[in-house]
Amino acid sequence: MLMEDYKEVVKDLKLRGWDSKPFDRMLSIRDEARGDLLPFLKLCLTEVPKGGTFVDAAFSYISEEEFKELISYAISESKNHGWTDVISSVIDYASLQFPRLLTDHLPGLLESRSNTYYEKWAWRKADDELVDQLCDIICSNDRRKNDAWECLVNIRNESAILKAHELFEKGCPRPQIGFDTYSMESGFLVRDGKSRRLTQDNTYHIIFDDEYLTELDQGVADSVNYAALSKRNHPTWTLKGGDYKAYKFGGVSESACGCCGDGLHHLLEIPDNLLANSGPISLSTCLSCLGWEEDQLFYKHDSAGNPTPLKVNDDKCDPEFKAVPLRRAEVKIVRTPERWKLQDWGLSNSRENLNRILGSPTWIQGAEYPSCPTCNETMAFCAQLDSGLLLEDEDDEEWLWGSGGICYILWCSSCNVSGMFWQCT
Ligand SMILES: [Zn+2]
Ligand SMILES: [Zn+2]
Repeated sequence: MLMEDYKEVVKDLKLRGWDSKPFDRMLSIRDEARGDLLPFLKLCLTEVPKGGTFVDAAFSYISEEEFKELISYAISESKNHGWTDVISSVIDYASLQFPRLLTDHLPGLLESRSNTYYEKWAWRKADDELVDQLCDIICSNDRRKNDAWECLVNIRNESAILKAHELFEKGCPRPQIGFDTYSMESGFLVRDGKSRRLTQDNTYHIIFDDEYLTELDQGVADSVNYAALSKRNHPTWTLKGGDYKAYKFGGVSESACGCCGDGLHHLLEIPDNLLANSGPISLSTCLSCLGWEEDQLFYKHDSAGNPTPLKVNDDKCDPEFKAVPLRRAEVKIVRTPERWKLQDWGLSNSRENLNRILGSPTWIQGAEYPSCPTCNETMAFCAQLDSGLLLEDEDDEEWLWGSGGICYILWCSSCNVSGMFWQCT
């Protein structure tokens, strides 16, 4: 294809809007001449200021080298066009997929450009030198000190988070919401001058087999988001590697729910040694009660990893919606490549696989780390499951957490206690 063809796509989009099917046409560039996606995206950066899901999705198909070039181009074009939606989106997706590529550009990305919850994520991998620069700005009472503090608290390393704690009063734009709210978004807890990580760098994706993916695809046939029509359109659904062992997913568990007394639903098996000093862990919950009868449910795991509810009510409830188990399946647990370790629920926009173990959670309503009911310590992040999973009963629709949220699973390694809850919009 030629530049003329791309100009035609853009011209058509301006004339006919989404009827011009920009998504199909972007995907056909990907399939026919992947190397041409970069020139196509560059054209979109200047010609389609509002951007669109076809642009967002295309970022996943360009190489690291191409992304590097696109970032430089976006930053130089921001001087001519301002921070349009499409130019901002290059920085936003880069801050997830290749945060290190942004390091050289960071001082110029200090001030607010879009007022989105993720605009300071560009700073996640900033180095010590940049940490010092931010601290100087905060201490010198520069007019950018609030921006600088928000960048600082978003840098995900121990020294930056301790500095942010130290300079909280000086730099935080909204101190009334408390330091923990900010630091937990970055996966840290600061107590008595020490920081503790609530997330791990090691990240794994739950990979379903071909048959399962085909059925998931049937469930999204009416989606307005073209790239979500086939799960295979995003690399996170088909990651390869790891060991060849298959792990049990879905089905039922042997213990009973402490609220309703029915059998627990098995969610997934966590491999041996993935959580500190533990054998395999079988994660289960009651899909009928979680989030409806109780906001959070906790389970104690025995030496074989099997759960029993921590709280058992004498008066059993009668859940309004009785859920069937998640479809029994065998899944692979695959180590996540660097590029997909940081994901976001909003920016993923139903395209990406958000069924993950360890790594950083993709919060919908903001970071939430409950205390372990046994020892009272803040629990660490263990895994998350997205909506849209298949159910055991063939006729049933896909499983939704609330209105289509995510279930988060936390772990206390001192007590072998798991905790779960979900968030949705
Ligand atoms: Zn129950
Ligand atoms: Zn505990």
